[in-house]
Amino acid sequence: MDNHGQDMYRLAKRLFPICRSITGDGVRDTLSILGEIVPLKTYEVPTGTPVFDWTVPQEWNIRGGFIEDENSKRILDFAWNNLSIVGYSEPVDQIVSREELLEHIYSEPAQPDAIPYVTSYYKRRYGFCMTENQRNALGNGPFHIVIDSELKDGALTYGEIILSGESQQEILLSTYICHPSMANDNLSGPCLLIYLAKMLSELPRRRYTYRIVFIPETIGSITYLSKNYVHLKKHVVAGFNISCVGDDRTYSYVASRYGNTLADKAAKNVLSFHAPGYQAYSFLQRGSDERQYCAPGIDLPLCAICRSKYGEYPEYHTSLDDLTLISEAGLGGALEVYWKCLMGLEHNYCYRVTCLGEPQLGKRGLYPTLSRKGSANEIRTMTNFIAYADGTNDLFDISNIIHVPVDRLIEIADLLRAGGILERMPEARTG
Ligand code: ZN
Repeated sequence: MDNHGQDMYRLAKRLFPICRSITGDGVRDTLSILGEIVPLKTYEVPTGTPVFDWTVPQEWNIRGGFIEDENSKRILDFAWNNLSIVGYSEPVDQIVSREELLEHIYSEPAQPDAIPYVTSYYKRRYGFCMTENQRNALGNGPFHIVIDSELKDGALTYGEIILSGESQQEILLSTYICHPSMANDNLSGPCLLIYLAKMLSELPRRRYTYRIVFIPETIGSITYLSKNYVHLKKHVVAGFNISCVGDDRTYSYVASRYGNTLADKAAKNVLSFHAPGYQAYSFLQRGSDERQYCAPGIDLPLCAICRSKYGEYPEYHTSLDDLTLISEAGLGGALEVYWKCLMGLEHNYCYRVTCLGEPQLGKRGLYPTLSRKGSANEIRTMTNFIAYADGTNDLFDISNIIHVPVDRLIEIADLLRAGGILERMPEARTG
């Protein structure tokens, strides 16, 4: 497969400076750049639209903001770092005392060099984020504080790509596009997903239809589900919430509500070979859009594979989650894992051997007449595959039983089917 590590990292670098939020022009600009790689359709859902138990909020845009001290020296500027203003801050232009300013300052004492990421989507307020060291160095004031932002009736914007397959059954791939300048959470998600979409779009044939969505987290998945959940419940056979997939440290898996869907099966199988030391989290440690996709009554078969998972690494939701935290290799590795899951799903059938007793591989050219180093292993894998191809095991089951990765089993299944000694069972579900 094409690794795309460099492409994904370059894209993350390009998208990094944009100030995204759950609504606004940062989301539109981000979708427009992603759309250069694979065309996507954007949707605008108006402010005030009821979506399940929520309402689409006002749209927020920001042009700038700063704090100046008593000598008119600028001590904080949105242009230096877009985490410096609390997301969804209402506009302000005031001279304030030190005490009053401190009520609107957010910092993180445990990480004195980090600017924390803070938002206030559903309560109107304004605020500034700075490092603990900056906060401690504040003078006596007074201070001139400015936030040049706008809250107005507008829209919530999201993007969607549908790649049709032979079946109307769907695989759902979702990521969020609502964080300002942070790399692992969350630019790694959209950068990986758009290249995954590109690879899927280039496949000569697709068994499944792929539904690929770029939405703001939480309110976006709720909005998307409220418009589409009846269709999704009928058609989606597996899905993944793609987030925090850029660093090099570890692989993580976040289970669906009961951890027993086809997506969970694919994720656990692929990770067990690609990254056996991966960290498994149950649904009790959920935190992203799986909260909506797996909610009671929605119950889509969706889980997540991450590198360092949201909430579990020190730089999470701070200015330290920058472009130095993610890497071409980190992104490339996660892309490979997702690709293996999807290709496993594309070839996932229950298989059955067509004859009684062991088939004679030699007369079909499947048994090497030349014995060489390694050939015994290959034959063993083939005969082990056949030994469990009794019509009840799917590709992931056989992989788990005989300890061989699915990408290798896909090649063997093709060989055995071409030799006429293996068949796919009819699918239980049809789209
Ligand atoms: Zn986040």
